[in-house]
Amino acid sequence: MANRRQPDGVTRRDVLQRLWGAAAAAPFAGLPAPPEFSGDDLSTFLGLEPGTPAAPAEQTVAPSAPAPAPAPWQPPYPYEPLVPENPVVLPMLMYHRATGSSVFEAQLVGMLTAGYQPLSLHNALRGLLGETELPAMPIVLTFDDGWAVQYEAVFPVLKQYKIPATFFVMPGFHEKQEGYMDWDQIADIADFGMEVESHTLNHADLPRLARRDWGAVLAEVVLSKQVLEERLQQPVRYFDYPLGREDEEIQQLVRDAGYDAAVIIGPGVHQSADTPFALRRIRVEAWDPWWRVEHKLDWYGAGPSHFAAQAQENAQPTPTPSGEQAAEGD
Ligand SMILES: [Zn+2]
Repeated sequence: MANRRQPDGVTRRDVLQRLWGAAAAAPFAGLPAPPEFSGDDLSTFLGLEPGTPAAPAEQTVAPSAPAPAPAPWQPPYPYEPLVPENPVVLPMLMYHRATGSSVFEAQLVGMLTAGYQPLSLHNALRGLLGETELPAMPIVLTFDDGWAVQYEAVFPVLKQYKIPATFFVMPGFHEKQEGYMDWDQIADIADFGMEVESHTLNHADLPRLARRDWGAVLAEVVLSKQVLEERLQQPVRYFDYPLGREDEEIQQLVRDAGYDAAVIIGPGVHQSADTPFALRRIRVEAWDPWWRVEHKLDWYGAGPSHFAAQAQENAQPTPTPSGEQAAEGD
């Protein structure tokens, strides 16, 4: 064995694969290099010591090796936050592909440690509409396109931590396209209680399709819901416009087709109960280190400090009318 064995029998290569996934190079261009661990750090970090719970939060998030000081995240394009009237700060993350479970787990542990409380889109929407109260630091995790790697790398971690998430899939892709979840896998995530929702039948660019074939648009929106409901025997309530392409007409069709809400890719964390068919999301990657996700949340206005300020505001005692004001009132 060319690999140096760690005391616990785990090779360095095993660890790097667990940490960074098998495809080490391409997806990680521009990310900091994997941190160096000593043998001792390693077994603790991976939760391999007898009696140690799997991946203790602090060690997973902050390994003892000095991490490079990250530069604050900035969006790669000009962005003016669109803040609706009476906004609710309700961040929703949009993921696509994944690499390994360990990198995603580290991100998730960072998120939970920071105090975020993931909730299903269904519960987020009920909170947004004022039917229930949102948790102090709500966050929604959504996964687009039904990639098989989501089942392999992401689902086990969500399952382990019992984190609800929403998967937007295209029924037309799961019969024959390689690299996508098959029906057994989709049924598996649905049976566990994850939301499996519609992303059209074939990942259609709806406004473009509408210019030549409205019937096809109808099929993409209506049939995808029916197929998923029949296959999974559960209601499909949410819609995800492929490529983020939508307009008023498409939004209206989605509403008429019986969906309760829809997500867009327009970035932002401020949601409005008035526009449930245009819920904003922030794009992140399953292999992002937690600090990068946190910087994005912070930049858009849903970082831990925003929620802390919000909590402090809510904790202020409601001002009681002073004697003077009371007298004026009389
Ligand atoms: Zn998509």
